[in-house]
Amino acid sequence: MLHNLQIEEMHAEVESPEKRARALLGQMTLEEKIGQLSQVNGSGHHLHDDIRAGRIGSILNEVNVDEINEAQRIALKESRLGIPLLIGRDVIHGFKTIFPIPLGQAATWDTESVRAAAAVAALEAASKGVNWTFAPMIDITRDPRWGRIAESLGEDPLLCSKLGAAMIEGFQGSRLSDAGSIAACAKHFAGYGAVESGLDYATANIPENELRNVYLTPFKAAADAGVATFMASFSDLNGVPASGNEFLMKQVLRDEWGFGGFVVSDWDSIKELTVHGFAADDRQAAYEAASAGVDMEMASSLYREQLPALIESGKLSESRIDEMVLNVLRIKYESGLFENAYTDPHRFPALVNADHRKLAKAVAIKSCVLLKNDGPVLPLSVEHLSDIAVIGPLADDGYEQLGTWVFDGESHHSHTCLRAIYEMAGDKARVHWAPGMRGLRCRESVGLNDAVAAAEQSDVALLFMGEESILSGEAHCRADIDLPGQQEALIEAVAATGTPIVLVVMAGRPLTLGKILDKVAAVLYAWHPGTMGGPAIADILFGKESPSGKLPVSFPRVVGQIPIYYSRKNTGRPPSHDSITHIDEIDGKAEQTSLGMSAFHLDAGFTPQFHFGYGLSYTKFAYRDMSLSTHQLRMGETLTLRCVVENIGERTSEEVVQLYIRDLVGNVTRPVRELKGFQRLPLQPGESREVTFALHTDDLAFYDRRMELVTEAGGFHAWIGSSSDPELWAEFEVVD
Ligand code: BGC
Repeated sequence: MLHNLQIEEMHAEVESPEKRARALLGQMTLEEKIGQLSQVNGSGHHLHDDIRAGRIGSILNEVNVDEINEAQRIALKESRLGIPLLIGRDVIHGFKTIFPIPLGQAATWDTESVRAAAAVAALEAASKGVNWTFAPMIDITRDPRWGRIAESLGEDPLLCSKLGAAMIEGFQGSRLSDAGSIAACAKHFAGYGAVESGLDYATANIPENELRNVYLTPFKAAADAGVATFMASFSDLNGVPASGNEFLMKQVLRDEWGFGGFVVSDWDSIKELTVHGFAADDRQAAYEAASAGVDMEMASSLYREQLPALIESGKLSESRIDEMVLNVLRIKYESGLFENAYTDPHRFPALVNADHRKLAKAVAIKSCVLLKNDGPVLPLSVEHLSDIAVIGPLADDGYEQLGTWVFDGESHHSHTCLRAIYEMAGDKARVHWAPGMRGLRCRESVGLNDAVAAAEQSDVALLFMGEESILSGEAHCRADIDLPGQQEALIEAVAATGTPIVLVVMAGRPLTLGKILDKVAAVLYAWHPGTMGGPAIADILFGKESPSGKLPVSFPRVVGQIPIYYSRKNTGRPPSHDSITHIDEIDGKAEQTSLGMSAFHLDAGFTPQFHFGYGLSYTKFAYRDMSLSTHQLRMGETLTLRCVVENIGERTSEEVVQLYIRDLVGNVTRPVRELKGFQRLPLQPGESREVTFALHTDDLAFYDRRMELVTEAGGFHAWIGSSSDPELWAEFEVVD
């Protein structure tokens, strides 16, 4: 038995995490090695013997700091080799201070906001002993039926890459071992966002070229950003479940990208390899996962139960186990846990403190997307309003505004919209509060008359509608993404009063709003905005702030358009506005569609309800003078694209300026538009600024038919503008 002192000396003598991990590995029994590959749920006394025996490497879902410190003490002082534990938790969009759901954060298009929110989440979680989060989720998704779209950063590889990397930077800080840094986890590797019909856990079929050009891009960016861990997905990818997928975890992640952290399975996803029909029994499931590259098993215990026999029989080599253990130990050393495994909450700032709330409000403000503003009815002025109707259960629901995946968030910290509106109105305007319905999914009309009465006596009706948080998130998918329950009927009844409606939508996904859009004057899409959603939304409604969020995902008109995304491929018969015919025009006679032989739906056209990148503000921005440093770009050189953006309205606001390109001809077809850059720009009324984007020929690279990353010579289009339907256009050529 080694004494702790000897172990500490041994740790101190060797330097790099790699060397230290190897030295430690040399001391380990097979049982201890397998222990490092096992993650179990909770902590508590029933686990102490296993921790003491070195049979557990990580626990998840324990946030009682005393329990965690005790578990660490047993691991460090009472286990033979004194190896500390990784303490995992889903800290997805905040710990106690809850920020907007990730999809809402993506709508900020602001890497700094996303980084700062993750840093606060890490700090709060670390103060309770958590040292590893299962975030960011960087699954590209183009299907709003999928409940986990709420947890995603949207449809676009570049936006998702940049924001995902910013989140990793926020969680991990400059060094994993710094107080307040926690290890991040890029999940779910890979293809989970493309599950068929937006059904959670379903199969994903993604051709390799599409996988590499779209779905893997943010994961590569995460690896480049130094993410400590990856999580294998639940889903089946092209016939091979991700948790047993050697192509993903060995070929791509280790061999091509040189990833040096470790891969954790998803919850029971190794055991589920048998349910997929990929493994005949638990033993084969453990074999498939371990040999494909899953280093640590979450929840189920197949590694512990099956790896010894697999090694004894020679089916799996102990050197494979050694690699897996080294991957885990390296991260434990990098996290500084051997030196500092205990947590003293008093050395951390208070949870949900004023600074954290201030940041949560600022991020929520930037995440709100103004989709419509006829009149303009917004911003409201308390000076000119005497009566304001506030309708809809979401106006005053501290829990629902937090959104999905808030294990540790508490609704009593929430500042609701109703409270913020009362504060804003003060004694200047009367607020008439009427929930209008008992719950958002209720089909009865209880409360409707009160809501109508409130609207009748008011100058404006503020309607807080959408989805409760339980309608999105894991295993919470919808086939119909209209406003649920009686909400449309309530909107219609309020609209019939003639009082202008401002609709604030809180939801975990894009909803199909077509049926009610013409009934309302304005729509502010607030996602699930988190703890400080109320004051953030009130500041926007009453003009203290201008909205500046932009959609990170296209909004379909109807479910039948899904998947609809801006970076689609051209068909051989692209539609145009004058080439389409609507079903009501053809009156059921298919032969009258002669003008319509192109790619569109007879009953939905070919455009989304709202474009990717779209979002209004309280001012107007004019785009002009686009220029390119050259129109002939040599391979290896950088093109500079410029334009001038001017605030020609009367209010200060921020604009997200977006750069798109199209590669006109490729060895494989290229999307009609691809985001290549974005910048958030604050502009005063009358102020104009030159915006510059740099585009290296490497930024134009894509995976070709041979799966090689190439930039091809040829013609390109470039656009700069305020959405994926941009204002300015130019062209250039790449020459060899
Ligand atoms: C989810 C993961 C999550 C894990 C641990 C699973 O059900 O898919 O994203 O990190 O549970 O809570």
